[in-house]
Amino acid sequence: MIHGDHPLPLLRDFAEALEGLYVPHHGAVAPAPRLLQFNEDLARRLGLDADRLRVGSERILLGQELPDSARPIAQAYAGHQFGVFNPQLGDGRALLLGEVRDPQGCLWDLQLKGSGRTPFSRGGDGKAALGPMLREYLMGEAMYSLGIPSTRALAVLATGETVQREEPLPGAILVRVAASHIRVGTFQFVAVREQYDLLRLLADYTIARHYADLLAFTGKERYLAFLRAVQERQARLLAQWMGIGFIHGVMNTDNMSIAGETIDYGPCAFLDRYDPATVFSSIDLNGRYAYGQQPRIAHWNLVRLGECLVPLVDADDPEQAVAELSAVLQEFPDQYRLAWRKIFGAKLGLADPGPEDDDLIKEFLQLLKQDGADFTLAFRSLGAYLQELPPAQAATLGIPPVWPSWQGWLTRWRQRLGLARSPSQIGQAMDQVNPLYIPRNHQVEIALAAASRANDWQPWQRLLAVLRDPYTARPELLPYTEPMPADLGPYRTFCGT
Ligand code: AMP
Ligand code: MG
Repeated sequence: MIHGDHPLPLLRDFAEALEGLYVPHHGAVAPAPRLLQFNEDLARRLGLDADRLRVGSERILLGQELPDSARPIAQAYAGHQFGVFNPQLGDGRALLLGEVRDPQGCLWDLQLKGSGRTPFSRGGDGKAALGPMLREYLMGEAMYSLGIPSTRALAVLATGETVQREEPLPGAILVRVAASHIRVGTFQFVAVREQYDLLRLLADYTIARHYADLLAFTGKERYLAFLRAVQERQARLLAQWMGIGFIHGVMNTDNMSIAGETIDYGPCAFLDRYDPATVFSSIDLNGRYAYGQQPRIAHWNLVRLGECLVPLVDADDPEQAVAELSAVLQEFPDQYRLAWRKIFGAKLGLADPGPEDDDLIKEFLQLLKQDGADFTLAFRSLGAYLQELPPAQAATLGIPPVWPSWQGWLTRWRQRLGLARSPSQIGQAMDQVNPLYIPRNHQVEIALAAASRANDWQPWQRLLAVLRDPYTARPELLPYTEPMPADLGPYRTFCGT
């Protein structure tokens, strides 16, 4: 054992620090728990003993045999859902078991999702169906493998229960690992109640946990710097989402992590044809959270965080505080633009893109939109083109040729790339940042349906393996490159609560 003698050496860090932001609680007892998926890689990274957790550990993973150090809680938070403020949301079907410290000394939350009703459940049953929990597991692994900050799942367990949705479905619990579950909505919960001492505690706790450098600042400078730093991480995260065509689907303020991780995978999906107006979620009727809206929405959510910080910046002169926080918030478009340019520049093989390259990037995206080209494959087409991969060989990998309509743009792009590096070197570098394999919507559905409805785990295992290595082209994986066949569309995702 690396930590003590309990296989989950849980701490109660949040619970000790932030009384008032949770209720102590326990999960419902699952009648017949069964471990369906266990994330060995993640267990190892956390410094947990994977061998002890893999077999016979159901009750431990579900928080029914906790170490004395643990104090499981349901966390309170508020949030703007589709722009409408709800002062009390909270963990209605989740339970924070506590934190584990990894071998590097970093703290990680272990949270159950689907573990039963809590005082925050409102009308819900507190349960989760297997399909959506597997979906979250898969998406988290895909994002992590793409190099994008994300929560990850340590395990999925069947509960042995049936949960009633539109139809009866097998119940499941996800064991989720996050840098923390502190959300914009956590700050909103405290700010709207005008609990300013708790607000300062929450801010200082969050800074110590996620932005420890900022403890060097005192007074209002600390909270202004905090907002700027949260903003910077979000700007980068959003640019990363945009760079791989990720659509979160429910960017409510309660689904935005202060640590800057992608969190709360609900009706998320990946773009196929490039169109900024793309929406997959069945509940996003007005396209508020469409692909192209995401950076703007992130900024909107950050403004909500900024509002919460007013009393910490200047309690005596709120107008002055608003002015100073607004000045920070106004930096977001530039922060995002920089992150976007870096990511999209790299996607086009530009080692050091500058503002003068923005038009080149935008013109390429415009071509993709006009042609209805597949976003993911288009960038691999450029990489193959530079490496002069014979079209027949590219086709065996699922990489289409460059489109005839790109000719004028290709000339300008090649001029810009210059002669400092060989085209083939540039193409190889591009293949390191442009994935060939993303979670294709129909593949995700096939894998989830087989596993959750027919107990056939083969498609799931294969898809997971494919997504864990998204950049290396492998001819045997041709089907995983193909966009969803048009006759299956239009694709719709559901919240699946
Ligand atoms: P989500 O959209 O999954 O982020 O959830 C929004 C809010 O609804 C959170 O407060 C959840 O805890 C709550 N919620 C979602 N599903 C359920 C459920 N089945 N039972 C109780 N609460 C739920
Ligand atoms: Mg949520």
